[in-house]
Amino acid sequence: MANQHVTRIVLASRPSGMPAAANFRLERETVRDLAEGEILLQILYLSLDPYMRGRMDDAKSYAKPIEVDGVMEGGTVARVVRTRNAVFNPGDIVLSHSGWQSHAISNGSDLKKLDPGEAPITTALGILGMPGFTAYAGLRNIGKPKAGETLVVAAASGAVGSAVGQIARIFGSRVVGIAGGREKCAYLRDELGFDAAIDHRSSDFPAELAVACPEGIDIYFENVGGHVWSAVFPLLNDFARVPVCGLIAHYNEGASNGQDQLPAVMRAILRKSLTLRGFIQREFADQRPDFYREAGAWIAEGRLKYKEDIVDGLENAPDAFLGLLEGRNFGKLIIRVGS
Ligand code: NAP
Repeated sequence: MANQHVTRIVLASRPSGMPAAANFRLERETVRDLAEGEILLQILYLSLDPYMRGRMDDAKSYAKPIEVDGVMEGGTVARVVRTRNAVFNPGDIVLSHSGWQSHAISNGSDLKKLDPGEAPITTALGILGMPGFTAYAGLRNIGKPKAGETLVVAAASGAVGSAVGQIARIFGSRVVGIAGGREKCAYLRDELGFDAAIDHRSSDFPAELAVACPEGIDIYFENVGGHVWSAVFPLLNDFARVPVCGLIAHYNEGASNGQDQLPAVMRAILRKSLTLRGFIQREFADQRPDFYREAGAWIAEGRLKYKEDIVDGLENAPDAFLGLLEGRNFGKLIIRVGS
């Protein structure tokens, strides 16, 4: 298409430890012409997620690393601007996996049409998308919440954690959230109705968590690892279930130094789905229709709320992503790429 440009952010180099702005590079290029069957997408929203840190490393994992000089990967909501594919019309809104860029060309096989009249389109990246489904699948298949039990969830104000706590409450569990800072903890208690919320940055964090869990912990939904796991571990009851969903406290660490094996063991539990029961949400993909039906109804009833942290401009994606790894986001982190 004449004079149509794409702006994109590529992986300039692999980080060692915490990534920095220099690991990313912004590029601009002309969009090529469409072949028969292809669709040109304008990206409206880009989801930023913790898994992207793992894809920046050249390490064996459940998914392939991003190549150096390759476009950063990511889930997106896009508008069809031009099409040579009979299934899609200009103006259609779709869910795609187009990455950190302003435009993309697709053959349609990876696209899911969204109905903007049904739900705000950003929810396809958050509460009604991969993070919401992760919460639902991890709880339903591994956590198995029951009335009267105590569930603790880490990174509780985030995209996955906030859904975990609310769904567990719908099933009658007593829910304790762990989050960084007073504002996030107040949100969990006052807006989402959690029974308690504990700040993991507090100097008395392990003792405060113990006080909030007088009957111990029956389900711990692990999103973090590190000092949060250390405080939770002694409080686990007999037969406690631990869905190991994420270990964000360890994502910037390299291979184990041979002394402290815990991060490596926990990473293995997550990535290889060992029996303390790591999981990757797509394992339960056949349950997605149940999820859309149940979560849609809970949202309509006001029992499942969500918060989105929307940052303007693709060029701000690297900084926002670094913030995600430090807890600067408050809610599901999304970049508004186009209008
Ligand atoms: P999020 O909670 O919206 O954002 C990440 C949050 O993690 C930050 O806001 C911060 O919250 C917390 N955090 C970061 N570094 C931390 C540290 N060192 N110690 C304690 N807390 C830290 O992210 P999300 O998308 O919902 O993802 C949550 C977890 O689920 C991640 O580990 C992610 O990898 C995992 N996940 C797994 C799957 C799967 O299929 N297994 C799918 C999606 C997500 P605070 O300010 O509260 O500390």
